Amino acid sequence: AKESGRNRYQFFTQALEAEVVTNKRIADEILEGIERDEFVPWYQPQFDASTLVLSGVEALIRWQHPREGILTPDRFLRIAEELNVTATLDRLVLQKALADRMRWASAGLHVPKISVNVSAKRLQEKDLLASLKGLSIMPGQISFELVESIFLDESDDVVTANIDGIKKLGIDIEIDDFGTGHTSIVSLLKIKPKRLKIDRQLVAPVLGARTEQALVRSIIDIGRSLGIETVAEGVETMAHAEMLGILGCDLLQGYAFSRPLSSEGFFAFATDRGIR
Ligand code: C2E
Ligand code: CA
Ligand code: CA
Ligand code: CA
Repeated sequence: AKESGRNRYQFFTQALEAEVVTNKRIADEILEGIERDEFVPWYQPQFDASTLVLSGVEALIRWQHPREGILTPDRFLRIAEELNVTATLDRLVLQKALADRMRWASAGLHVPKISVNVSAKRLQEKDLLASLKGLSIMPGQISFELVESIFLDESDDVVTANIDGIKKLGIDIEIDDFGTGHTSIVSLLKIKPKRLKIDRQLVAPVLGARTEQALVRSIIDIGRSLGIETVAEGVETMAHAEMLGILGCDLLQGYAFSRPLSSEGFFAFATDRGIR
């Protein structure tokens, strides 16, 4: 028994060492990938729940890895955070999304709104507002998706000032993964976001019993009474879409409509459907 315990111990340390080596390799490759411009936004469309008209897209980062192909954030975002480069990646995604939007527009496709995910590190940057001022952004065209945990530290003056400044630049604030964190009504009233994004975990059970719908229902109702729009993410079937529409959710996003698509893929998706 003692022998096998030692073997197991060795097995775990070897596995751990292997993981450390792999993470170190990925970390090096992320830094090279930034140099070589391998990170790009993909786009997932969002639709008005009552008219099913395209209302915007969410930009989601992808890594065009030279050997492994297109990688999703679960493969690199945690290590990017440890490397302290998420703010850099967020900046890249915004720049590229604005460039893609211009390209689409000159080809006749007008996308009303692009939402980008903003990490805590980016929101804490002292020169965030300065870096945004140079971009020509029309009111409502860009949204920043912020996760609830960013707001927990209300004592952070830089974050508070940045949120105010972002809004003054005409950029909307959306609270991402709403319903999984701890945003209080009080902080909702203070932040006054344009939209709440209802987390996929809450959207999935919406076809269940009334008790399973309860959370989604109450988020939509809170949104309505505070004048905040609601977006359901992870809408996987049209039955879900229909129910969310009945409950009064404003915007829908999920595999029922489309997976995230490359810039060209999204352009083809939209033009195929006659979206202008
Ligand atoms: P998120 O912001 O909650 O994004 C939604 C995730 O759900 C995306 O995963 C999307 O592809 C996936 N999804 C969309 N519709 C469905 C559906 O119907 N069913 C299921 N099962 N999944 C669906 P993705 O693209 O892998 O992104 C994962 C997370 O990585 C994002 O979660 C976000 O937190 C983060 N992320 C993505 N892009 C960026 C970025 O540019 N900057 C930062 N800081 N974080 C990003
Ligand atoms: Ca998001
Ligand atoms: Ca989300
Ligand atoms: Ca999420």
